Amino acid sequence: MSLEYAEGDGPKHSDICIVEKYASMLDENASVKDLLALMKGARQFRCPKCKGRGYVSKRYNAYPSGLPDSGWVDDWKKTDVECDLCNGYGWTEREWKPKMVQDGWE
Ligand SMILES: [Zn+2]
Repeated sequence: MSLEYAEGDGPKHSDICIVEKYASMLDENASVKDLLALMKGARQFRCPKCKGRGYVSKRYNAYPSGLPDSGWVDDWKKTDVECDLCNGYGWTEREWKPKMVQDGWE
């Protein structure tokens, strides 16, 4: 089986090397599930905050300080920061669930 990748898409060679390294630790009857479990190690749960990416987008005000209109003018930009729930791994050792905040009844 082979897949056709669009240009610039598909796994990087370094990704393949990582998978090869772990696959070589398993016997030939191992399944993809076994391979995934081995690669995840203790981190079996996909991080719900970053959805496995390891980083989250954060809004910040890029308008320079020290200008006459600083504090009045906003220049909101997005930047990627390491996810603090999984420390950038994308996967966690325990299963995190969102806190449900109940505010009253209707
Ligand atoms: Zn995360």
